[in-house]
Amino acid sequence: MPLLPAPPLTPSALFVFLGLFALLTATFSWSAAHGMPGFRRPLRLWALALLCVATAAAAFLARPLLPGALAYIVPNLFVLSAVAVMGMSFAALDGGSPRRARWNWALVALTMAALLLAQAGRASYPLLAAIASLGLGLLLLHGAWLFLPQWRQRAAPEAWVLGLLLAVAASFVLRALSSASDIWRPDDQGVLAGHPMLVVGLVFVASCSLAFFSMLHERQRVALQHSYQRDSLTGLYARGVFFEKAQAVLQMANVGDAFAVVMLDLDHFKRINDTHGHLVGDKVIAHAARLLSGSVRLHDLAGRYGGEEFCLLLHDCDSERAHRFVQRVLHRTEQPLSLRDGRSLPFSFSVGFTIFRMEDRAPPLEQLLDRADQALLQAKAQGRNRAVQACSEGAGHCALS
Ligand code: GH3
Ligand code: MG
Ligand code: MG
Repeated sequence: MPLLPAPPLTPSALFVFLGLFALLTATFSWSAAHGMPGFRRPLRLWALALLCVATAAAAFLARPLLPGALAYIVPNLFVLSAVAVMGMSFAALDGGSPRRARWNWALVALTMAALLLAQAGRASYPLLAAIASLGLGLLLLHGAWLFLPQWRQRAAPEAWVLGLLLAVAASFVLRALSSASDIWRPDDQGVLAGHPMLVVGLVFVASCSLAFFSMLHERQRVALQHSYQRDSLTGLYARGVFFEKAQAVLQMANVGDAFAVVMLDLDHFKRINDTHGHLVGDKVIAHAARLLSGSVRLHDLAGRYGGEEFCLLLHDCDSERAHRFVQRVLHRTEQPLSLRDGRSLPFSFSVGFTIFRMEDRAPPLEQLLDRADQALLQAKAQGRNRAVQACSEGAGHCALS
């Protein structure tokens, strides 16, 4: 005699289970959104998607009670809407534009229109099933297509969701084909009576929910790390993090690699604060930081050294490249910052930099920054809005402009 009785896995029981699971997960997702302002939108969308799943499950259960025309339309409308909203929710996790999901809604509308037409024409059950399954299959395929960029960037849960979308899409397209070709003709009750699609749907909803929360957790971890590493005003590395990262880069460098260390300081910044106020001063600092992060390459490091001072570590940067880089930065500051109220605010940098080629041991970072800083002081002394290179240790400075 078995220890536990076999669970009564009738279709009705499965619908009840699916509905309850969806309802609980929707509640969890909705309440989690309160505590995670950065992820409010994807969490609320996920709650909405699962609410659609729960409603669809309830509508399937209540089918015998629904008037003829609605019995097929209502549950399928909620199933299709659930998948469309799930797609929006996955896109919102990475700040994706909701416009990307507009084809989802076009597919929902098309499928519903086809179902309504077929129902009005008193179509047979297999035709209705074929239309609904094809619409759902295409919607899932489109979801997989939208999901491709997310899958390329990351790892396990994304690959899992993509595989699931493709597998479930394929099974619904197959179901559509088998219904359409009349090979297998379930009657209306037959679909409810243990149709494998119900199990497929259940596995899909549960797995996608797990994958969604696991992806959310990963995004949250990255966001936290980002906020700890980055200066909040400029988005550049905070000073300590810049030091850590630069040290690590120097440790990993090969003999012969060329680097430039650059220090930049906004000129007469105190005047900007005094004349226009600290809020405008902040805007200038943020603008200057954007200008810098837009000027460096992906593998270079840019940090906020303090106040209105910035530091950069440029990879693969010999003297000539460093000259071109600082000239480009100085050239870009010729364009004043335009404020929303129409004012335009001129600003400039003084720049000091030093270059070095890696020998058998990395030079101490402090020494490199100090050399660049001395050159920066020279640039200030020579009248500001210019760059000075510290030629080499003890060899003085070479004025550039
Ligand atoms: P110099 O050309 O010699 O660099 O002159 P300066 O006025 O730029 O330099 P100084 O060191 O005299 O003044 C820097 C000012 O930057 C003083 C400080 O109040 C201001 N500052 C530092 N951090 C911030 C910030 O986060 N926001 C704003 N608005 N001001 C800041
Ligand atoms: Mg300063
Ligand atoms: Mg300054």
